[in-house]
This record gives sequence, structure tokens and C-alpha cells, in this order.
Amino acid sequence: DDSEQLEPRPPVVTVMGHVDHGKTSLLDAIRKTDVAAREAGGITQHIGAYQVTVDGHRVTFIDTPGHEAFTALRARGAQVTDIAVIVVAADDGVMPQTLEAIDHARAAGVPIIVAVNKIDRENADPQRVRAELAAKNLTPVEWGGDTEFVDVSAKTGQGLDQLLETIVTLAELSELRANPNAPASGTVIESRLDTGRGPVATLLVQRGTLRLGDPIVAGTQAGRVRAMTDYRGERLKEAGPGTPVEVLGFDGVPEAGDRFRVVESEREARRLAQERAQRLKQEALARQMRRRVSLEDVLARAERGERQLNLIVKADVTGSLEAIVDEIAKLPQDEVTVNVIREGVGGITESDVMLAAASDAVIIGFNVRPVGGAAAAAQREGVEIRTYSVIYQVAEDLKAAMEGLLE
Ligand code: GDP
Ligand code: MG
Repeated sequence: DDSEQLEPRPPVVTVMGHVDHGKTSLLDAIRKTDVAAREAGGITQHIGAYQVTVDGHRVTFIDTPGHEAFTALRARGAQVTDIAVIVVAADDGVMPQTLEAIDHARAAGVPIIVAVNKIDRENADPQRVRAELAAKNLTPVEWGGDTEFVDVSAKTGQGLDQLLETIVTLAELSELRANPNAPASGTVIESRLDTGRGPVATLLVQRGTLRLGDPIVAGTQAGRVRAMTDYRGERLKEAGPGTPVEVLGFDGVPEAGDRFRVVESEREARRLAQERAQRLKQEALARQMRRRVSLEDVLARAERGERQLNLIVKADVTGSLEAIVDEIAKLPQDEVTVNVIREGVGGITESDVMLAAASDAVIIGFNVRPVGGAAAAAQREGVEIRTYSVIYQVAEDLKAAMEGLLE
């Protein structure tokens, strides 16, 4: 029990939103507010994450913008984000990927701050963005809701201080804590094979303190921390909770989303890595035999007390989509709650599949099929896609399955 050793840790923030709304620009602009980095003689970023200090509070930004990366990590069981900043361009308004990003943040239970960007533009309409999002249940605090909206410009820097202050305030309310004295553990957020240096991994330390020389295991890879640098490329001897670091010393390349932890010895690390490789092999076999997220599985879990059936509903036109969602809402939900985590018009995409995999959801398609890599992703992730062309059949199926469960 380490409850007495919990200490405040920096929040980990992910920036998401529609393409071209300014995610990369905003991350760049925020990084430039990092006075310490400027004084250290440069702000060349070396890894896919960085930290800035706001009134003495550190904030960690994961610099792989886009909800695909976020959800790919989550699909692998890694929860690395404490706060999602949803960027919306004030001259463009809420777009499909804005809504997707919100779905992803909500599905992860991560609080949302809305950054209304590009307010330097003549045709910026930040109030319209507020109205559009209020219609999606993200009501601005100034309208009596509980979502913070901050007007910003990544170009002029306007509003950035306020955005950072809002993040720090929300983080303080969330009372983020971790034990810095435990053996280090966390998540691999990026990895690659460097021709000169070998396997390189960016790790987010989430608990404990990672030290030079520590024996370490991540997924199926073992090793020892031979070198550790921060995002500025400066060498570190140790890194505490909430800190992103680049690490050399793995035998092979661990995968993004792998959990890592420090163990007693390199030998123990190798044993655990091998054990993990063995288990993955068995799981892959088992998956071929049986789909992981089928309607039956979800209901079997419900039988054990997890009484929530998550659905993603895609349809060919708005009319049929609304009809199906209405039908679903009418299902008796005393024993099992049916939760539509995403609804949309159009083909079933890879992003739908990844969200389903991350949320143990079943995908319902009405007059639509999987597009792009969606079918392959569903196969790989073991996500069930059920397609229909008769509306009442959807509700019938769900009802029959739910009633079967209650018998
Ligand atoms: P991303 O796709 O969301 O990462 O968007 P980018 O950061 O690449 O920005 C898309 C375009 O919008 C680029 O041409 C940026 O220069 C421009 N942009 C981003 N933020 C602002 C801003 O605050 N004001 C103005 N005027 N342009 C911006
Ligand atoms: Mg970008």
C-alpha cells in the first residue's frame, strides 16, 4: 500500500480535432512558451511528447496529434491521457473529425477543454463554435454548462496562457497523483529502430521513478536503461511520474501501447518478455477460433455484472440512422444498458473499428459496408460488425439477445 506516498504529478494532455484546424500549430506554439527550453539554447524537439511549466506546474503534451494514435493506444489497453484539448477552427466550425475526437475522449472518460483556434482570422466566429458544440452536449461554462472553452490563435499566440491556465486548473481539480518511490512503470508511446543507436522507445513514466541502469521490460522486449533523454535531447539520470523520456537499451523494438515496468534484474526482464511473447502467440490462436467482441461475448460479460452494451451505429442516410437510434433507445434497459458511443452516416471505417476495439463495442451497419482497411482491422482486433438492411431487424436482434440473457 503506497497511498501515503502519493504525490502530485503533471497532467498528460492530448490535442485532437479536425484536420487543418491547427493541432500541430497549437502544439508548436505551446512548446514555444517553454521559457526553460528557450534558455537552454533551443527548442528542437526530439521525442513525441514535451513538457511546459506554467506558474511552477509542469504539463505534459503528447505530440502525436489525432485521435487515431490516442485510440490505437487505448485499444491496446493503455490509458495515457488525463485531459483532451479539442481544437476547433473558429472560421470553419465543428466538422466530422471534431465529433469523432469528442467521441473518443468521452469513450475514454477523459475531460475535454475546447480550444477555439484561428480567432485572428477575419471570418472567425467563436460563438458559432460554442453553439454547435452546445448542441452536442458540450455546453460552455459561460453559458451555464461545464465545458471550458478558450479562444486562441496558434498564429499570434493569443489565448495560449489562458489555455494553459485552464489545463492546470482542471488538472488540480482532478488531483492527479502518483507514487514516485515505486519501481517505475508506464506506457510506450512511440518506438523505432535507429540504424546507429538500435531500438529507441519513448516512454511515459506513469508511476515510480525510472533510473539509468534499471532492468526493464516492455511487452515482448527486455533490456536495461542505457541512456535516457528528455524532449530537448538532454541526458537524464532519472524521470518521475508524468515525464516522457526517450530510452535506449531494449533488445528489440517494443510496440506503442505496450506497458513497461522496471524489474529486479535483466534476467527477470527477459523471462517476463518471453512469457509475454508466448501468451501473445496463444491469444492470437485463440482469436482465430473465436471473435473477441461479439454480441454474445458482450452479453456474457453483462451476465457477470458488466451491464453495458456499447454500440457503434453507421447508416447510409440520416433518416435511417435516426430511426435505428430511436429504436435502440426504446429497448427495455432495466438489466442491460445499451450505450451508443458513436453514430454516423457513411461506411464503417477503420476509426470506427478502433473505437469499438477500445470500448468493447459491437458495430451495427445499416445499408453500409466496411470501407478501406476496416474489415481487416475488425478481423485483427476481433471486433464484430453486424450489417442489416431492415430497420426493425436491428432492434429485434438486440432485444432477443438481451432477453436471452435475462432468462
Ligand atoms: P492540423 O492539421 O490540425 O495539425 O493543422 P495545422 O497546424 O497543420 O494547421 C493547418 C493550417 O492552419 C496551417 O496552414 C496553419 O498555418 C494554419 N493555422 C493554424 N493555426 C492558425 C491560427 O491560429 N491562425 C491562422 N490564421 N492560421 C492558423
Ligand atoms: Mg497536423
